[in-house]
Amino acid sequence: MFALTAAVSAAPAQPAAVPTPASILGWEPGTDRKLPSWKQVTDYFAALDAASPHVQVRTLGRTTLGRPFIVAFISDSANLANLEHFRGIQQQLLDPRKRGSATRESLLSDGRNIVLITSSIHSTEVGGFLSPLVIADRLVRSDTPEAREILKETIIMLVPSQNPDGVDIVGDWYRSTIGTPAEGTPPPEIYHRYTGHDNNRDWYAFTQVEQRMVLDSLYAPWTPAIVNDIHQQGANGGRIFIPPYMDPVEPNIDPVLTISTNALGMAMGWRMIAEGKTGIATNASYDQWSPARQYSLNHHGVRILTETASARLASPIEVPFAQLGTARGYDARVSSWNFPARWPGGTWGIGDIVAYQASASWAMLASVARDRRQWLESYMTVADRAMAADHPWTSSAVPSAYVIPRDQKDPQAVQRLVWTLQHGQVEVYESVPAGSYVVPTLQPFGSYAKALLERQQYPNLSEYPGGPPKRPYDVTAHTLPLLFGVQVDAVTGAAPAMGGLTPAVAEPRFTVAGLSGKSPKRIAIYRSYGASMDEGWTRWLFDVNRIPYRTVLDADMRAGNLKSRFDVIILPDQSPSQLRRGLGAPYPDSLRGGLGEAGAASLKAFVEAGGTLITFNDASEYAVDVLELPVRNVLTGVPSTAFYAPGSLMAVTLDRAHPIASRMTAPVPAAWFEDSPTFEITDATRAVAVASYAATGDPLLSGWLLGGSRLNGRAALVDVTLGKGHAILFGFRPQYRGQSMNTQPLIWGAILR
Ligand SMILES: [Zn+2]
Repeated sequence: MFALTAAVSAAPAQPAAVPTPASILGWEPGTDRKLPSWKQVTDYFAALDAASPHVQVRTLGRTTLGRPFIVAFISDSANLANLEHFRGIQQQLLDPRKRGSATRESLLSDGRNIVLITSSIHSTEVGGFLSPLVIADRLVRSDTPEAREILKETIIMLVPSQNPDGVDIVGDWYRSTIGTPAEGTPPPEIYHRYTGHDNNRDWYAFTQVEQRMVLDSLYAPWTPAIVNDIHQQGANGGRIFIPPYMDPVEPNIDPVLTISTNALGMAMGWRMIAEGKTGIATNASYDQWSPARQYSLNHHGVRILTETASARLASPIEVPFAQLGTARGYDARVSSWNFPARWPGGTWGIGDIVAYQASASWAMLASVARDRRQWLESYMTVADRAMAADHPWTSSAVPSAYVIPRDQKDPQAVQRLVWTLQHGQVEVYESVPAGSYVVPTLQPFGSYAKALLERQQYPNLSEYPGGPPKRPYDVTAHTLPLLFGVQVDAVTGAAPAMGGLTPAVAEPRFTVAGLSGKSPKRIAIYRSYGASMDEGWTRWLFDVNRIPYRTVLDADMRAGNLKSRFDVIILPDQSPSQLRRGLGAPYPDSLRGGLGEAGAASLKAFVEAGGTLITFNDASEYAVDVLELPVRNVLTGVPSTAFYAPGSLMAVTLDRAHPIASRMTAPVPAAWFEDSPTFEITDATRAVAVASYAATGDPLLSGWLLGGSRLNGRAALVDVTLGKGHAILFGFRPQYRGQSMNTQPLIWGAILR
């Protein structure tokens, strides 16, 4: 609380009055089989705020399911009393245009390191529920010279959970299963209402309220120079990953940020190994490609991802040394330059996870506090380089600007594109004469705008010369004009004439003609207990467009008689085996079995009776199989050396006379292809291709594709007649992570067919 902080700032801290985490939780953080509720976490931070002059807690808003979303500002009380002053310095460091009369020297001597620590965005990574409490406690109560130096030199924004809803979704499930065979299993639902694990892939699209709160209240006003994101990985590799990342790097990121991320990660590992920690891996597993996961590296901040080995939620496991295996970039049984200290194996539990996470964050804070001036200089240098005339590090030519004509076929898509850029701190200007938006690349985050507006050329990486392709950590394309279906023109040479800055555009209120508000079709979306993120994204799409639907579970599907209840059933992207079998042991019987034989028979009867079954991506293979459709996936059994497309945008040709395609407006129709099926129609009297790949040429628009000729002449979207009904098979993800809105009209066309 601000007044209290100011009043006591002259007096020394009173450690006895500051609560420990255990005094609020009733147990020490890191105790086996103990996870906090979100209320306990917020109670702790509220108590800390009330008792410590070094802590100021703010509620940024409400989560998707209505929980308070909080941040704790932690710093020396003198810094906390002058946050706006330090934010002003940060803004001047960030943008040479705002420096006015301030000298470089005065900014460097007066500024503070602005550090954002975010935790537990992934809710099965449960150490992240507790480590923020341990870090805060150590900062506030330890009163060592090092702790005082961190508080003096640093303003820390600590977000104890980026997904508070998931703290309770996973925590409640875990507590209900302790002592049962299902103890330690993930919950039978996604742990964010709409996104599940994809919630950390939303850092340029900003579809979810949790991302927007962090963006609008922390990233945009503060633009932190250092970000620490706390995660967990699998159990059988290293004990913790710390940057440097693996290749590739996104080519628009300033190499000063890459090398300083590397340096800070190495400093952290150095200290942790000296402390006696082992199993520390660098240059492994995680790459530096997609802006979807790394907002800060695209906004002048280093990004320290830590990934600590998991247990079974808060239940300990035994990991014998012989069970340790190879990860990408090292072998956990062999010492190497990027894995210098082997972990001997043994018991691993929540206490170890919390200890590693807290140790890593402390090592980071101590390092940046000691070198505060160097970090500020680096931040200022990156800012100056962004505003220089050329960016020699990029691998593609830098246009002077991108122009977005206002008058396009889909005004919602244009509005969404401008809103998305502006939300990512990109300056958008009016054209002269009026009629277009202009995005100059010469602006603080011009490189970020370029990354999102250009087409990606993902490097051809292989595991070894002549070997299979090296799997990217995530997907390979992020071209917003293709995803959204908007015409954007790159301008080379002199920048076009520009008028004033475009005021912040409103987020479009999405509307689908004939479906929003009231649907003539009774729509069902299938939800598996083997939680599918795509099912969540499908519901998100329907909710933002206000299209009514019902969720159907295994029991509904197996019970049959579906046609009496629904006109349209959607199977979101999920593997055929998961759809067929669902969960098994050790889950309770009521959650097991998937669609099974009965569900498959019900679906077939539904279509034959006149229903429309719509399947996305891998679920299409399930439909081909159980409905015995006259369609074959030509990529079945093809090795990755012969064909590979792990998340790319492909050009498709539409049959515009077909009712399913009639609503498409994208200037360049682009299908989101992610390990997708591709179809050959084996009986043309019963099936037609609505979208196809061209007969010749490379179908790749953005990302990475090997063996593209295998797609030539094949179908990407098929409408199959079965009995009185239809099965409409998407060989791509038409609503990928809420982003591929250019192909969403195909979903509406399929529903209204
Ligand atoms: Zn994670």
